[in-house]
Amino acid sequence: MAELFYDDDADLSVIQQKKVAVIGYGSQGHAHALNLRDSGVEVTVGLREGSASRDKAANEGLAIATVPDAVRDADVVVILAPDQVQRHLYAEDIAPNLKEGAALVFGHGFNIRYGYIKPEAGHDVLMVAPKGPGHIVRREFADGRGVPVIVAVEQDASGTAWDLALSYAKGIGGLRAAGIKTTFTEETETDLFGEQAVLCGGASQLVQYGFETLTEAGYQPEVAYFEVLHELKLIVDLMIEGGIAKQRWSVSDTAEYGDYVSGPRVIDPHVKENMKAVLADIQNGAFAARFIADQDAGAPEFKELRAKGEQHPIEATGRELRKMFAWIKPSDSDYVEGSAA
Ligand code: NDP
Ligand code: MG
Ligand code: MG
Repeated sequence: MAELFYDDDADLSVIQQKKVAVIGYGSQGHAHALNLRDSGVEVTVGLREGSASRDKAANEGLAIATVPDAVRDADVVVILAPDQVQRHLYAEDIAPNLKEGAALVFGHGFNIRYGYIKPEAGHDVLMVAPKGPGHIVRREFADGRGVPVIVAVEQDASGTAWDLALSYAKGIGGLRAAGIKTTFTEETETDLFGEQAVLCGGASQLVQYGFETLTEAGYQPEVAYFEVLHELKLIVDLMIEGGIAKQRWSVSDTAEYGDYVSGPRVIDPHVKENMKAVLADIQNGAFAARFIADQDAGAPEFKELRAKGEQHPIEATGRELRKMFAWIKPSDSDYVEGSAA
């Protein structure tokens, strides 16, 4: 059984006695900075010159500094810029200014796991990775709850790195839900696999194929959208509440029988073989190398794939339909419909 942590297992005063620099004010950065501040922690947000995030952080009354200045003063440096920029940021702005004995905190293990960042021996290296998008991490905290976190210590230079990791996890509200002990390697490999094979890659491809199959057979796109995309959330909500079993209990017997006989026809054993190949590329570093090489070249493949995805017919159908959905509230994120194209 995994080792679990809750609020009672952590001492908030550990992080309250530190000066914390949160580098980046995006999805995770804004959530960590604001939740820590509301937990009584002294936070400075580190941003590059001319940062588009500056106004948002300033409007919250947070202290803002350049990355080198924020790092110079900090006991704890939290690296929440995008994974692909972290190693440049670390080499140029963070490492040269890091205080002796300062701790490094990550929200995902990518750069440590694949060796893109190699911190010197004197620094604690921790991970507190919320298992949810940053905007939900902030919203749940503000509502008095928390998003579960997974916590790891890669390097325990101080001998007290776990106390700091748990205190930090409590500060962002994660231990109100639960903390699970892991390692950088386990977090990185399972996180990449989950998003590639099931949550993002698998689900997106499944929905697109379902939509294509119905519309190519002559059914109305609007009806297809409801059947293969909109209802997915309702089904997933039941899975979260009570597992696949509750989903099967709630749907009609017809749907449940169809699940048993047709599910394995669609997602057949080849899919599991494909998943194993995806996992192998994550474990052997091939995925990481491909992602970083593309990013370093200006992300041509990434941009092309993003534009292609945005042009899939299900997106245009969904955009029109969602305008008519009185029950979908505008989200509190900065996402702009169609902005990826
Ligand atoms: P974002 O893409 O939202 O980060 C954007 C922020 O990083 C902005 O403030 C941006 O500033 C800043 N930034 C971008 N490039 C630079 C740069 N070159 N120098 C300085 N600052 C820069 O990141 P995420 O929150 O998605 O991810 C952060 C970390 O959290 C990653 O390790 C990710 O894997 C992990 N994570 C993310 C989750 C999520 O919900 N998104 C979930 C769990 C973990 P500017 O305005 O100047 O561009
Ligand atoms: Mg991830
Ligand atoms: Mg139906």
